[in-house]
Amino acid sequence: MPERKQFVVIGLGRFGGSVCKELVNQGHEVLAMDTDEEKVNIYANIATHAVVANSTDESALKSLGIRNFDNVVVAIGDNIQASILTTLVLKEMGVKNVLVKAKNDYHHKVLEKIGADQIVHPEMDMGRRVAQQMSDEKVIDF
Ligand code: ATP
Repeated sequence: MPERKQFVVIGLGRFGGSVCKELVNQGHEVLAMDTDEEKVNIYANIATHAVVANSTDESALKSLGIRNFDNVVVAIGDNIQASILTTLVLKEMGVKNVLVKAKNDYHHKVLEKIGADQIVHPEMDMGRRVAQQMSDEKVIDF
């Protein structure tokens, strides 16, 4: 069992939701956050805590004590501006490890500049893994 850690997952879409569930399965504490109350209600039964909050609101993040978490996942998809602003606020607050889901190359570049610690492209990353797996299977078949 890995060491029990505390995480914040911001954005409970397919990606953020899946990250949240797996972290809980791995035995970690997860604070799940979304602006959408329906999503938060669903994750209230899964995450350790679930809150309706806008992550671009610095005072909301402060009152939730987000600066005390070492690991935050920013899984906001379509709203690139909100994703960038959230990342900026988190890094300014001193959060050690901020992992952000990027939508495109432009988004990635900006995230890099403002200090995102890890940047992922779920569809692209998964496509590469699937291709590598299929390629390996073919080698084994022969
Ligand atoms: P996925 O592919 O992971 O399903 P997506 O890329 O389509 O997601 P969105 O659905 O746009 O991404 O965003 C993911 C979640 O982030 C949504 O549930 C949305 O309500 C939430 N979200 C968007 N902006 C904010 C914000 N400022 N603060 C908190 N949550 C937010």
